[in-house]
Amino acid sequence: MSQTKYIFVTGGVTSSLGKGIIAASLAKLLQARGYRTTIQKLDPYINVDPGTLNPYEHGECYVTDDGAETDLDLGHYERFLNVRTSQANNVTTGRIYQSVIEKERKGEFLGKTVQVVPHITNEIKERIQILGNSGDYDIVITEIGGTVGDIESLPYIEAVRQLLWELGENNGIVIHLTLVPFLSAAGELKTKPTQHSVKTLMESGIKADILVCRTEHEISEDIKRKLALFCNVRQEAVIQSIDASTIYDVPIMMQEEGLDTVALEKLALPNENEPNLDSWKQFLNRHKNPKNKVTIGLIGKYVELQDSYKSILESFIHAGAVNEVKVDVRSIHSEHISASDIDKKMMGLDGILVAPGFGERGIEGKIMAVRYARENDIPFLGICLGMQMAVIEFARTVLGLENANSTEMEANTEDPVINLMEEQKQITNMGGTMRLGAWDCQLQEGSLVHEVYGKTEISERHRHRFEFNNAYKSRLEEAGLKATGFNPKTGLVEVIEIPSHPWFIGVQYHPEYKSTVADPHPLFVGFVKAVLAQKQQQTNASLA
Ligand code: GLN
Repeated sequence: MSQTKYIFVTGGVTSSLGKGIIAASLAKLLQARGYRTTIQKLDPYINVDPGTLNPYEHGECYVTDDGAETDLDLGHYERFLNVRTSQANNVTTGRIYQSVIEKERKGEFLGKTVQVVPHITNEIKERIQILGNSGDYDIVITEIGGTVGDIESLPYIEAVRQLLWELGENNGIVIHLTLVPFLSAAGELKTKPTQHSVKTLMESGIKADILVCRTEHEISEDIKRKLALFCNVRQEAVIQSIDASTIYDVPIMMQEEGLDTVALEKLALPNENEPNLDSWKQFLNRHKNPKNKVTIGLIGKYVELQDSYKSILESFIHAGAVNEVKVDVRSIHSEHISASDIDKKMMGLDGILVAPGFGERGIEGKIMAVRYARENDIPFLGICLGMQMAVIEFARTVLGLENANSTEMEANTEDPVINLMEEQKQITNMGGTMRLGAWDCQLQEGSLVHEVYGKTEISERHRHRFEFNNAYKSRLEEAGLKATGFNPKTGLVEVIEIPSHPWFIGVQYHPEYKSTVADPHPLFVGFVKAVLAQKQQQTNASLA
């Protein structure tokens, strides 16, 4: 296929309708029909990337292999498609302006006045087409963040309008995701907000080809006809997207509604072959019919917002399905853990995960949770900051270095068991300067982590500034905390474990970014397996 086809996804009425999930679901269906598909997200905020954003703002910051700090929707794309994304898959207004301004400083605009139209819109169009022009994809789905009508989105909408015109008939289409609210007092679904939002889109010169309608109640054919008539789309192009019990149902629901069929028709692409979703359905089946249940504590400080630990929660869903077990993740705020109530807080947990994070707030609670897991033989996984806390806890309790700490928390600590990486020492800018993206790691032969991965050469994604201080390695190892994974080039410690404990692993990297439906992450699979095994052993012991 020569011409790459483009699908633009816009949002209307409100935010949080789940554009990312709809885009990922459609991409999944197209991929399952054999089309090479990728997804891109355009974010209208002025931050260059979400790396400097507090998780409370937009949820988790997702990291790609090439070290891009991106919107969490890219995580959904990878989890659904099992195809790696990169910096090109996430563009922000900040990045667009930064690049236009850099070009202006270099004199690339030949004395012209630099303006939103055409310079910003041209830059947007280029960024959209980078993926299409790579030759790697038949179809590129571009999700425009924000809601139609927002001031921030205007340049994006204008760029899409121009691009649709340039691409020509059947090479680009627009899917508008909208809300059809139910008014309980009237007992009715209301179409007016959708009509208005389609009209707003029209005012910018864009006609929606397909409407995906988020709803809490079934949309009747009558309402579909009404929406079609007033929004100028064909009736079969009005797609219902009713609330789902899991996001992984959405591709199946979209297939039943014919979203992929209509999209392919509008793109003039063959749509006779049904998508092959066998393995997807197998996963769903295992996910929905667990044979057992385990409870895992997620100890973090951004727990009020589910999206803060999105990839971790999804990784547990993948790992749960492999083990045919429901993983009930209990979020525990690390700031609310104290020495007097730790037993109560940890009661009923079959496994403990200490989450990634930044800064001092809540770390003592994390350290207490590590200690609880270590002393009570509860399977433990520490991720990034969680691994660092495990090292600090061990140094304090087992080595007796009472003041052991990370220099992130206490710059002049007596025992800096975690300290700033050498290459980080001169860095003053906050944005995009951490150790980011995929790095090789060598696992020690015969270690638990080697067994979990089933190989010794791995590559995992990073996002941190601090590291295990090798000056303390031999003392920690003698006392029983082993370093079992290393960066082969720098010797940085990437994995620690405690062999005398049933299952205790801390990793400096983020395994959660790489878990997908098709390829669940071995660390999560191994962790859940260990948690389940230990729970069953305990149940058997108490019955005996
Ligand atoms: N704050 C720690 C560091 O920068 C851990 C980062 C994280 O958990 N992602 O090293």
